Amino acid sequence: MNQQAVRAQLETLLADLDRSAAVLSHERDSGGETEQLDQHPADYASNVGEVDREEASLEVVEAQRSRVRDALQRLEAGTYGQCVDCARDLPDERLEARPEAERCVQCQQRHESRR
Ligand SMILES: [Zn+2]
Repeated sequence: MNQQAVRAQLETLLADLDRSAAVLSHERDSGGETEQLDQHPADYASNVGEVDREEASLEVVEAQRSRVRDALQRLEAGTYGQCVDCARDLPDERLEARPEAERCVQCQQRHESRR
């Protein structure tokens, strides 16, 4: 594994996510108030739905961003590429597909089924 290439990849990913988060939170902050003033009650439900979707995707971006930041920290600490649960090395193809991956497939499935 080429650590410099991984770091560059993670930093690019982080910059993209920063931009997405900025756009999403800007849309959320600027979108609402003026529209609400001349709103028909019947439109209210569908507008709420839109806001929810924006917040959901902002949440997704924020969660992804913190995973990428964690991955960069693990790179600094020298534990990058190891499963955070069982400490086994992650397969290269998993890291290529998801450079921010923090668990092996088995631990990830266990982790997700616990939620
Ligand atoms: Zn594991």
